[in-house]
Amino acid sequence: MDFSGKRVLVTGAGKGIGRATAKMLAARGAEVVAISRSQADLDSLAEEIGARGIAVDLADAEATRRAALEALPADFLVNNAGTTALASFLDLPVEDFDMLYAVNARAPMIVAQEYARDRVKKGLPGAIVNVSSISSWIGFADHTAYCASKGAMDAMTRAMANELGRMGIRVNAVNPTVTLTPMAVKAWSDPAKSDPMMKRIPVGHFADPDEVAEVILFLLSDRASMINGITMPVDGGFMVN
Ligand code: NDP
Repeated sequence: MDFSGKRVLVTGAGKGIGRATAKMLAARGAEVVAISRSQADLDSLAEEIGARGIAVDLADAEATRRAALEALPADFLVNNAGTTALASFLDLPVEDFDMLYAVNARAPMIVAQEYARDRVKKGLPGAIVNVSSISSWIGFADHTAYCASKGAMDAMTRAMANELGRMGIRVNAVNPTVTLTPMAVKAWSDPAKSDPMMKRIPVGHFADPDEVAEVILFLLSDRASMINGITMPVDGGFMVN
């Protein structure tokens, strides 16, 4: 897949899946614009692949819209940034629920809205990939807010695909299983939790960030020209077990 001459906006490109995606895109010719939180990550990414970086806290709706407008125009959008906070359902603080919704569901909506407005205004086609999770389908303990935010992202993906697909912009989601990134360390470092999880994955390992990035690039590319509105497991078969 050749992305030469294409400009791709990747959120959460500082670490993990977003960083792997940004690097793979750059290796295949794309110019990357990165939106993320930590300036140090953006600086090192700029050094590595020449990506332009915009630092913002995606929990802030107005700042998110300003950052999106600053980042545009872009040919493609990867809505990857996401966060988690663990709490049992009975102890889940409302503040955590709101924060996860703001970062994992509201921010992707805002960034996609500005991206799509720009494409539609110019009469140009496009593609968006939202990075969701198998958590949208599975009720993992201590993950209520995260599961809810990813369920919202899947539903939003379908509604966006229906509206924006008619304007030449395809919208899809990838739904990875546990992927070896800093976030996974936060959620899955306890072997009592991760071992049974691993046992349910027929291919026998957690995902490497590059294994998710490959699917994101495919869905962005013209090779996926007939794919619109899907939520694609990248889970080594977890969902069939
Ligand atoms: P990481 O925590 O490794 O990286 C997330 C990136 O998003 C970081 O660069 C982070 O910046 C940025 N980010 C997070 N919150 C904000 C915020 N409020 N404002 C701006 N930037 C922010 O996560 P992953 O790479 O693991 O996750 C990427 C996506 O994949 C997420 O949407 C996640 O839900 C999803 N996912 C991850 C799985 C996993 O097991 N790792 C499994 C399934 C889905 P900073 O560090 O500076 O805050």
